[in-house]
Amino acid sequence: MNKRRPTRQVTLGDQRVGFVKIGGGLNGTEPAPVTVQSMTTVFTHDVKACVAEINKLTAAGCDVVRVAVPEKKDTDALREIIPQVRVPIVADVHFHFQRALEAVESGVHKIRLNPGNINDRKQVIDVIQACKARKLPIRVGVNEGSIIERKDKQRRLKELGQFFSDNKRGYLLAIMITKLEEYLDIFYEQDFHDIVISAKSMDPVTVIEAYSEISKRFDHPLHLGVTHAGPKETGCIRSVTALGTLLANGVGDTIRISYASDPVFEVEDGLELLYCLGLRERKGAELIACPTCGRIQVDLISLVQDVRKKLAAEIKMPIKVAVMGCIVNGPGEAEGADVAVFAGDRRGIIYVQGEKVANVPEEQILDKLLEECKKFEDRVKRGEVALGEKKVEIIPPDPIGELGSGWQKIAESKSNATTLTIGKS
Ligand code: SF4
Repeated sequence: MNKRRPTRQVTLGDQRVGFVKIGGGLNGTEPAPVTVQSMTTVFTHDVKACVAEINKLTAAGCDVVRVAVPEKKDTDALREIIPQVRVPIVADVHFHFQRALEAVESGVHKIRLNPGNINDRKQVIDVIQACKARKLPIRVGVNEGSIIERKDKQRRLKELGQFFSDNKRGYLLAIMITKLEEYLDIFYEQDFHDIVISAKSMDPVTVIEAYSEISKRFDHPLHLGVTHAGPKETGCIRSVTALGTLLANGVGDTIRISYASDPVFEVEDGLELLYCLGLRERKGAELIACPTCGRIQVDLISLVQDVRKKLAAEIKMPIKVAVMGCIVNGPGEAEGADVAVFAGDRRGIIYVQGEKVANVPEEQILDKLLEECKKFEDRVKRGEVALGEKKVEIIPPDPIGELGSGWQKIAESKSNATTLTIGKS
């Protein structure tokens, strides 16, 4: 992991919804944790549905929520929406700069402008001045889909010619950066620096290259995203390839994973990415599970899904929980888990930090595992134990003997073994 790139910090929010900082490290600021954003999918003017979706995203851990405001009835609706939510709201403005001015008046916390479709200098200055008066940041977001000039025919012809040349990606980057520079000059002339930048493409390699270049040229925080990433099933890989690479290189201050799915998945996967990279402190349990193989002893795939849902709903502490399909490799693969279950012969043996606490039939594994997780969480709260403390030891023939399976394989692979150890040594 590379050190995070220092940026000019921006702050959005208010006393009621709270303040969220993006970026930092310059001008005496501490870098803020990387934040997760998402966007609503319902009509913004459908106040009830919009509030419900924003609150669902907030409950999932979303730090900032963006809403589309294509019509005046949408910016009007913000006056009713904002008092009912507990998260900073960003108005996503395309084509009509008036929507930005209306959104500012309606109490929004940040504006997103796209240089590809709001580029009239006077209009941009009006938006900048309105945001400056309210101390609101602006995200300048260029997108692959709208970066090629549409109005000026000659410029469009030239840009399209470059775009469809052999070095398509290179020219796309050049156009993105040139337009960003031109656009940001207007902001600098107005002495406006509360800026966040994004430069999205559907191609992860272009995203990596674009943000890497931009990070060298500007000191504003970067909002990372892969646009039009597709459904969760494939969009996840597309997004994580680009965002994970950039974040590991120290580039990126806020992220949005985009799916053609329920946006709650965007938040869950965005947070998981940040947890995996150690960029956010994990909230809730961490689940480790084996991929299963020919040694499998229970219906582990279903069990893991059930455990995942229960842990997400009921455990608030970062307890490490392992669900392993057999006793052959399970203990080693669950190394470091606080609570672990190893399956064998349609049963599950449950361990809590070194102590075997249960041996139950397959149908009782889920409930018993959750019960032990809750008990463990309570003990941590009372200060009796600490997370990640103590090693788990499994001493053959217990539990292998009890399970009535696996021992032969253990004996073959570890002929002189007397102790299997799980956890920190
Ligand atoms: S824990 Fe057992 S069942 Fe699961 S992948 Fe490892 S060896 Fe296979």
